[in-house]
Amino acid sequence: MIYLDNAATTALDPRVFAEMMPYLTEEYGNPGSLHAYGRRALDAIEEAREKVAAFINCDARQVIFTSGATEANNAVMHNLSRLWRGYDGGGVIVISETEHDSIENSSKQYGFCRVSDRHLTNDDGTTSLDALKEIAIGDAGLADACSVQYVNNETGAVNPVREIGRLCRANGVLFHSDCVQAAGFLPINVEDMMCDFATISSHKIHGPKGVGALYVRDPDGFHPLITGGSEQEFGKRGGTENVAAIVGFGKAVELASEELDSSIKQISMMKNMFYGELLAALASSGMSRDIVHINGPSPTSPGRILNLRIDGVDGETLVLAMDAAGVCISAGSACRSKSVQPSRVLLAMGLSPIEARQSVRISFSRDNTFSETYDACQIMADCIGLLTGGGL
Ligand code: PMP
Repeated sequence: MIYLDNAATTALDPRVFAEMMPYLTEEYGNPGSLHAYGRRALDAIEEAREKVAAFINCDARQVIFTSGATEANNAVMHNLSRLWRGYDGGGVIVISETEHDSIENSSKQYGFCRVSDRHLTNDDGTTSLDALKEIAIGDAGLADACSVQYVNNETGAVNPVREIGRLCRANGVLFHSDCVQAAGFLPINVEDMMCDFATISSHKIHGPKGVGALYVRDPDGFHPLITGGSEQEFGKRGGTENVAAIVGFGKAVELASEELDSSIKQISMMKNMFYGELLAALASSGMSRDIVHINGPSPTSPGRILNLRIDGVDGETLVLAMDAAGVCISAGSACRSKSVQPSRVLLAMGLSPIEARQSVRISFSRDNTFSETYDACQIMADCIGLLTGGGL
């Protein structure tokens, strides 16, 4: 199989697995225990915390380990709801229309007054700084908090988070950025981004699943979403820590940081090559290149995600045809793969529901090779030929 669904998850790096192994076997201590087993487990967690802190440029005490980015995003919303308890009519949050479901749905669940407007989204999928100023922050003075992801998980669109952070700080608006899809591709510097909260997830960067981290600028004022032992995560997240996963996460961020430059170069080249070779393969099979449209940033831009719309081809059917031919891609976010609704991210970019359904996401990682990238786009051209009755 050729795996091109790395925005959904990545393979565990063997170097990460090697680092985790002792904590899955002989080092089974509970980090809360006072004895030697417990102390070694706690030391391993603190070492991983230092690595995650270095990865996003903050103090280790500002990093809280969670079960993943979904929990971290929910914890942000939980904290806003605590903060806004005393507000008359509650607080107002502005979120981009292209946020991950864990932001979109949790902000709804807490019943916040939300500003989420079609005009916040540019046609390329990025969030407009000017629209944010006009509609919610600054001139409008409406929002109390703002959540805009760094990189979109469906299109790879890169948001101007540094500028948004500055706008928020200057206007006394709390800023959260979901940095899950930026990790490993773009430097994440929470100080420079002027974030109050930021989220990352281990399994998107060749670490284990079920572990993530939340950056909290002011940990003293943070209320745990999951309450439990007062020693666990400084009382900010209850539950016995998943030591092996946290250790693996620490190794994964270390590798992502060391290999950032080479990963960006290799992955961006493969993505661009895929697009070019797909068009060439379609043309050589007698099909028009014009049936392929790009949703989001240009294939030449850095990043791992390529979102394509193919005229006359249902995205899900193409995913299944590619799967049968040995290539894994997706028709959007893995968290919504069974949803019958068209992607709200693509709709926010101005695509019609039919166009949104004709879209697929192809996403690369450092594990992919140029030769499998070449094979995959030939297979995709063949599948498009079969599904449109064209070429071949
Ligand atoms: N945010 C974004 C942008 C994501 O892509 C994902 C994973 N699909 C999440 C949050 C949730 O991450 P996790 O799987 O760690 O809960």
